[in-house]
Amino acid sequence: MSRLPVRVEFHGVRGSTPCAGPQYARYGGHSSCVSLSVDEGPPIIFDLGTGLTPFGMLVGGAAHGFTGHALLTHLHWDHVQGLPFFTPLHHPDSNLTVYAPSQAEGPVGEVFGRIMQPPYFPITMQQLHGNVEFCDAGDDDFSIGDAVVRSRFVPHVGPTLGFRVDWNGVSVAYVSDHGQGCCGAVSDDWISDPVLELCDGADLVIHDAQHTAPEFDHKRDWGHCSFDFAVHVARAAGARRLALFHHCPSHGDDVIDRILLEARDASDRTNGPDVFAAAEGLKVDLEART
Ligand SMILES: [Zn+2]
Ligand SMILES: [Zn+2]
Repeated sequence: MSRLPVRVEFHGVRGSTPCAGPQYARYGGHSSCVSLSVDEGPPIIFDLGTGLTPFGMLVGGAAHGFTGHALLTHLHWDHVQGLPFFTPLHHPDSNLTVYAPSQAEGPVGEVFGRIMQPPYFPITMQQLHGNVEFCDAGDDDFSIGDAVVRSRFVPHVGPTLGFRVDWNGVSVAYVSDHGQGCCGAVSDDWISDPVLELCDGADLVIHDAQHTAPEFDHKRDWGHCSFDFAVHVARAAGARRLALFHHCPSHGDDVIDRILLEARDASDRTNGPDVFAAAEGLKVDLEART
């Protein structure tokens, strides 16, 4: 019997800060949030950026309880601001379990709670009607239902995880924030072992593509990479498809169109993966290879 496809759905594809305006009409302005699901079952959510707000409306608002798991890469604003606006958490029967990188300052749930309290935000985590449970994660392997999850620390600014989910015969790697300039004296084409492990032969790699090469030259310590490096990672890992992700707010739709053309060209020249640019609302169904 053939297995059901894993649906990948992009709800927020922007990095650094959400943005609005006609120049973002096609790729979208919400910050990082992607869901995986099989046959309408409980989803696995990558990151809790502002894209989590429209996702909450899709899954039924506060009308009924919600159960799901989130894999949170790190605590930067563009990855967490959607949580209090996730309307399913307005329902007392809702449960969201969040795996997030362990922090030197204490349990990650406590550390997260410090930014969700007055004067930074009017309500606390405890005042949400639904239940949110945080689990500290590091270089771990664990299961969520039938899915096998791998989390690994990756080079960025501050403790940051990348994830890989193997589910129903399909593998998806999510490395939203990844800077090739963050590791000291290594060459610009060096890829850390944990990133290669996450992306190894993946059906889909969703990867940081924040900069063009000239932009990266000026911003090499910002924790992000060029889109060429995203192609390099996916090709080196033998991935089948690459989604350019974490688009820079300075890149309007036309700029991303040009980046996509150049990335496809670079991939074609090196026998790399199929490349597309992540866009808000885009759904990709991945089927197990037989
Ligand atoms: Zn980010
Ligand atoms: Zn970041």
